[in-house]
Amino acid sequence: MIVDSHIHYLGDHPDAVALFAALDVKLLNVAVTVAPGDAWYEQAIVGRELTEAYPARYAWCTTFDLPDSTVWAVPTARRSYVDAVIAGLERDFAAGAVGCKVWKSIGMQLRKPSGEFVMVDDALFEPIYEHLGATGRPLLMHVGEPLACWQPLDEHNAHAGYYRGNPEWYMGDKPDHPSHRTLIAARDRVLARHPLLRVIGAHLGSLEYDVTELAVRLERYANFAVDTSARMPDLLRQDRAKVRAFLLKFADRVLYGTDVVQRYPVSSMDEPERRAHLASMRQRYVLDHAYFSSDATTSRHGVDTEGLGLPPDVAAAIMGGNAREWYPGV
Ligand SMILES: [Zn+2]
Repeated sequence: MIVDSHIHYLGDHPDAVALFAALDVKLLNVAVTVAPGDAWYEQAIVGRELTEAYPARYAWCTTFDLPDSTVWAVPTARRSYVDAVIAGLERDFAAGAVGCKVWKSIGMQLRKPSGEFVMVDDALFEPIYEHLGATGRPLLMHVGEPLACWQPLDEHNAHAGYYRGNPEWYMGDKPDHPSHRTLIAARDRVLARHPLLRVIGAHLGSLEYDVTELAVRLERYANFAVDTSARMPDLLRQDRAKVRAFLLKFADRVLYGTDVVQRYPVSSMDEPERRAHLASMRQRYVLDHAYFSSDATTSRHGVDTEGLGLPPDVAAAIMGGNAREWYPGV
C-alpha cells in the first residue's frame, strides 16, 4: 500500500475513492492553523468525515489553536491555554486523529505582544510536547522554509516561483525575521528535549537542499523522521547515488507524502475537470512510486530522471510502511 502521509485533500467523490482503491493509496489529511482564531477546525472536520466514510482510504491529523495576545499576559492564562489545547487534542485523538501538526507561522509570523517572534521551542508549548510524547502521539512539524527562502530569487533558486507568488513568506528581504539556521536550531532543541516525542519533519525537515544535513539530524535524534511532501523535486535535483545511499541508510525514517492542496471538494468539479484532476493524481503516484522502486527513466517536471531502483522492501517502507509506523492508526 502507498500512504500519502501529507496532503490537504477534499476527495469526497466516488471516482476519487475508486482511484485510490485501484492504486491502493491511503491519504493522510493534515489540518493547518495559520493564525490565532482562524477556522482550522473546519479542515479537521472534513478530514474526520472522510476518514469515517472511507476508513481504508483516508486518515486525518489535527492541530491546535495558536496563542493570541491575551495568552502571554499572565501565567494563569498560559495554563488555561495549554489545558484547552491538550483537551482539544485528546478530543480529536478519541475521534480518530492520528497525529498533531504545527505550521511554519510559529517562528516566522506569530509574535508576542512584545514583538518577539514565537519560536517552536517556546516554553509555552513544552507541556503540549510532553503530553504528546507521553501518550505516543506523533507531531508533524513544519518549521521554517526551504533554504531558498533566504536566497536571491534568481534562475538558480529552485523555489523562486512560490516566493514570487507568496512574497509574505519570502525572507530574503526580511532581515528582522529569524534566519533559517535559527528556526532549524529551535526545532532541533525540541527534538533533543523530548526524546519520547516522535517528530515527523514536514518537507524533508526544511533541510531539503542536502541529504547530508538531514542525515546529521537523523543520526543525532532517533525520534526524528521526515516526509517528502512538496520536496520531491529537491531530492531529484541531488546526486542520485548520494540520495540512494541516504535512503538505504535511513530506510525507516523517510515517509512519502505529496502536499497536494485540493481545498474545494472533488465532488464540486464538473466531469472534465474531475477526470483531468484524477488523471494527474494517478500520474503523480505512479511516477513517484517508479522513482523509488525502479531504475527506469521517467520524465518529471520536464526533466528526464533515472529512478533510484531501491530494493522492494525499502521502496515499500518509504512509500507506505513508515507512515504506518510513525503515525500509529493510519
Ligand atoms: Zn502541507
